[in-house]
Amino acid sequence: MQIIDKVLCNGCSACLHACPKNCISMAPDKNGFLRPVIDETKCTNCGLCKKTCPVLNKKEQQGKVVQAYVIINKNESVRKNSSSGGVFTRIAKHVLSKNGVVFGALFDENFKVKHAYIESENDLIKLQKSKYVQSEIGNTYKEAKNFLDEGRLVLFTGTPCQIGGLQAYLKKPYDNLITQDFICHGVPSPKVWQKYVAKKQEKGTIKNISFKDKRTGWNKYSISFEYENSTESELASKNSYMLLFLRDIILRESCYNCAFKDKFRNSDITLADYWGVENVHPEFSDDKGVSLVVINSKKADETLNEIKQDFTCEQTDLDMAIKYNSCMVKSVNVNKNREDFFKRLDKCDVEKLAKKYTRFSIFKRLEIKIKNIIKKHLNRGEYGQK
Ligand SMILES: Cc1cc2nc3c(=O)[nH]c(=O)nc-3n(C[C@H](O)[C@H](O)[C@H](O)COP(=O)(O)OP(=O)(O)OC[C@H]3O[C@@H](n4cnc5c(N)ncnc54)[C@H](O)[C@@H]3O)c2cc1C
Ligand code: SF4
Ligand code: SF4
Ligand code: SF4
Repeated sequence: MQIIDKVLCNGCSACLHACPKNCISMAPDKNGFLRPVIDETKCTNCGLCKKTCPVLNKKEQQGKVVQAYVIINKNESVRKNSSSGGVFTRIAKHVLSKNGVVFGALFDENFKVKHAYIESENDLIKLQKSKYVQSEIGNTYKEAKNFLDEGRLVLFTGTPCQIGGLQAYLKKPYDNLITQDFICHGVPSPKVWQKYVAKKQEKGTIKNISFKDKRTGWNKYSISFEYENSTESELASKNSYMLLFLRDIILRESCYNCAFKDKFRNSDITLADYWGVENVHPEFSDDKGVSLVVINSKKADETLNEIKQDFTCEQTDLDMAIKYNSCMVKSVNVNKNREDFFKRLDKCDVEKLAKKYTRFSIFKRLEIKIKNIIKKHLNRGEYGQK
């Protein structure tokens, strides 16, 4: 029994959480993406999984854009340790100061990416920064519901489909829940990531990984691996794993046909990098990371107003921002090499495969150079690049 077409299933896990017979588990497919598997010996055919799936029951986006902002956290050290302008951390601190609970994605001891919650500011560092891998939702929807029912304030950050999954599972709105998604390029395969990390671990024990190391700037960010006595850092535009991600070779199938692309969101807040800021708000452009924040509800507007003094921010034109960040409204195209890449994954090294499938011909390189010159004057940000 299949709940939804494999190509459309985003792995949000709402069906698993909704099943009254606990007969759904999430298991990795051959490409490493978690998918619901039903134990048919226990299934009573109640249909609740299908009724809950946020893709099968796609809701009209209720949210209206209250306001969009170009924004940076005034705390320079927070901004340095965040992917964009450090907005997530300030909102999370606000929630924690009200005895709230913050859910987000962190690395476990093996650098697998998982959703988890924190209740103390000291743990905020675990959630900070983007991890460009699909995170496992695990038990977090149920944990969030328990906190909500106890009356605790909850901030839940995730991909738009994870927020859709949470809302589908909860079934009703909660005044004490703030949902926060981001403009989402798509999520790479955890299997590719684990294979890539395993190779890096042969060089020594990894202490930390940053997908967005800003020491080379925010526009030309690096991915870095911190070992016991050294740090290995490479520009994202040259790194094998990041190229596989940004060139759309290793994303989940659902990301090429995403049901959650929209200017209007059901989340309270949408975060993003403000790509193209140098053209729209040059006074914000210092190459240290700038956020685009879209406020989708009154609740989020009130929250932002309570902490606005800690940001440098200005209203912005969302349509203009989307011009540089098309992933808000449009799925990326599947790369023609995706199938071949995954066919060879079990037998080959990720670096070797990346060399084979991300290398451009001389003509393509020339075309990119010309496009980049035009892009400089027009639009399209880092994530939207082709
Ligand atoms: C897979 C992925 C794709 C993205 N694609 C785009 C894009 O196309 N365009 C764009 O402008 N921005 C994109 N972003 C968002 C961007 O990278 C920043 O996360 C966002 O701007 C917030 O930055 P910040 O400085 O406020 O907070 P940060 O400190 O960077 O906070 C990041 C927040 O995201 C959560 N998070 C991190 N990794 C994951 C994950 N794998 N799954 C779910 N939640 C996660 C963290 O828990 C934290 O709450 C993407 C992020 C991810 C994880
Ligand atoms: S039909 Fe009902 S019992 Fe069967 S897997 Fe779906 S939710 Fe569970
Ligand atoms: S609820 Fe989520 S995981 Fe389950 S079938 Fe639908 S999209 Fe897939
Ligand atoms: S692109 Fe869409 S389907 Fe893929 S992770 Fe993002 S929200 Fe989910």
